[in-house]
Amino acid sequence: GMRSLQKEHLYKVLVIGDLGVGKTSIIRRYVHQTYSTNYRATIGVDFALKVLNWDSETVRLQLWDIAGQERFGNMTRVYYREAMGAFIVFDVTRPTTFEAVLKWKEDLDSKAMLANGSSIATVLLANKCDQIRDLTNNGLKMDQFCKDHGFIGWFETSAKDNLNLKEAANFLIKHMMATE
Ligand code: GDP
Ligand code: MG
Repeated sequence: GMRSLQKEHLYKVLVIGDLGVGKTSIIRRYVHQTYSTNYRATIGVDFALKVLNWDSETVRLQLWDIAGQERFGNMTRVYYREAMGAFIVFDVTRPTTFEAVLKWKEDLDSKAMLANGSSIATVLLANKCDQIRDLTNNGLKMDQFCKDHGFIGWFETSAKDNLNLKEAANFLIKHMMATE
């Protein structure tokens, strides 16, 4: 029937960044609408699927979490394979996690690329923004940072308060669809 004619998009999206920045919390909140303060750090790679109706099409967002590998500051090529997009996450209360963002970006760009050879769409997430009152002074700096380092955009997020997760995901999806 008509249903089978509905166009489907499957996107593998990586969620990377230092230990404790909130990667698992972001995925749980966005996909399962739950939040907890203690997730056991499982070892290995895990992924969660978010299915969205997008106009008359279907988007399947496969979010790849990492656990245990953060401490090495890089991932294997197998993990990066066929990724279409990425979130690089840092914790706004811990500057060292922001410093690590560029290391993650370099690792990503050195190991993952689209079929056409360009780098994969990456969005920067400034997580735990519920912990800091006013980040607006940082806005311009962050815009410039993204331009300088090849991020398509950035969002202040909170997995705790469910802030901007949908917006960030939709932004990335739009970009991936446009460049598919
Ligand atoms: P991961 O190691 O990057 O996967 O980080 P987790 O998701 O395990 O989160 C590490 C800790 O930060 C946990 O105690 C979370 O409850 C907490 N956390 C995650 N996101 C937020 C957030 O948006 N706000 C606050 N205040 N805490 C958060
Ligand atoms: Mg985790």
